[in-house]
Amino acid sequence: MAFCIGDSCISCGSCESQCPVSAISMGDGKFEIDENVCISCGACAGQCPVSAITEA
Ligand code: SF4
Ligand code: SF4
Repeated sequence: MAFCIGDSCISCGSCESQCPVSAISMGDGKFEIDENVCISCGACAGQCPVSAITEA
């Protein structure tokens, strides 16, 4: 299980700096979470202003 960023993301960048394992990065015009790096801590989801990050 990993967290993922949905279509409602407005690319504010707030989540990127919250990730303790640097799993979030800008890729191909939108922010993405590397599911192989994410440890599902949930820190990014709490930071997102539009609740675009969910566990999938
Ligand atoms: S759930 Fe935690 S480890 Fe996974 S991307 Fe979000 S902040 Fe990073
Ligand atoms: S905090 Fe939410 S809206 Fe901002 S870049 Fe991350 S996923 Fe997108």
